[in-house]
Amino acid sequence: MFASETCALDACGADFIRDVRPGEIVVADGKGLRSIYEPASVKKSLCIFEYIYFARTDSVVDGISVYDARRAAGRLLARQKPVDADIVIGVPESGIDAAIGYSEESGIPYQKGIVKNSYIGRTFIKPNQSEREQSVRIKLNAIASCVRGKRVVMLDDSIVRGTTCARIVSMLRESGAAEVHLRIASPPFLWPCYYGTDIPSKEDLAACRHSVEEIGRMSHADSIDYLRLENLPGMLGGRHDGFCDACFSGRYPAEIPDYLVARKNYDYCSPIKRL
Ligand code: SF4
Repeated sequence: MFASETCALDACGADFIRDVRPGEIVVADGKGLRSIYEPASVKKSLCIFEYIYFARTDSVVDGISVYDARRAAGRLLARQKPVDADIVIGVPESGIDAAIGYSEESGIPYQKGIVKNSYIGRTFIKPNQSEREQSVRIKLNAIASCVRGKRVVMLDDSIVRGTTCARIVSMLRESGAAEVHLRIASPPFLWPCYYGTDIPSKEDLAACRHSVEEIGRMSHADSIDYLRLENLPGMLGGRHDGFCDACFSGRYPAEIPDYLVARKNYDYCSPIKRL
């Protein structure tokens, strides 16, 4: 059995044996199993966004628990910019683990705060703005009795366009939150992804067009902080190498074909840096 995440193996009662290495093809056919491997042709660069958003929280990716990584991001955020607050909440699903970590580190109690309708897909994958906005309203709802009159720290995994975050903060205020402090469990998105994920062009990335303070104001938040780029290894148990973090750092681990660069308007900001 082959799967992109270990949670699929768990669901089927299969034992995890090992990861398929970068540059490796494992062939399973009538002759059995064999590996074809070209180690010199690639630099290992696992998408760091697997830990932040893509992977399921009960998966282990490249030996690192996704849940542990997200909790660690929350703990690091609590150390980066402490705030006086009454409760910590997370935007489901990936923001919840970071909120638990933030709560552990800060001593501020974790509460549920927001409920997710689990019968709707991920919002940033929706193709247009009105569909995304509609999805947020259907997908998330605040628990008014939990947030009313409270100073709330709200953890989210990332800010892409900024509109979803602003809607969630407004929703908390409408439900009576006294303050909303936004903490983002990844650095600002400054560069598009050319490796197959649906992260948009620079033109659509909030952090490309606005400073962190502006994003905080646009989100109607009382304060805002992102996980610092230099703290990403801390999220991964201290590991520095073997990850792609290009959408945060601009350090692309592989050459980008010109037609892809043109498609994502790379010249909107400064030139692409390559390793
Ligand atoms: S650019 Fe970002 S989303 Fe794309 S592979 Fe690298 S880390 Fe993942």
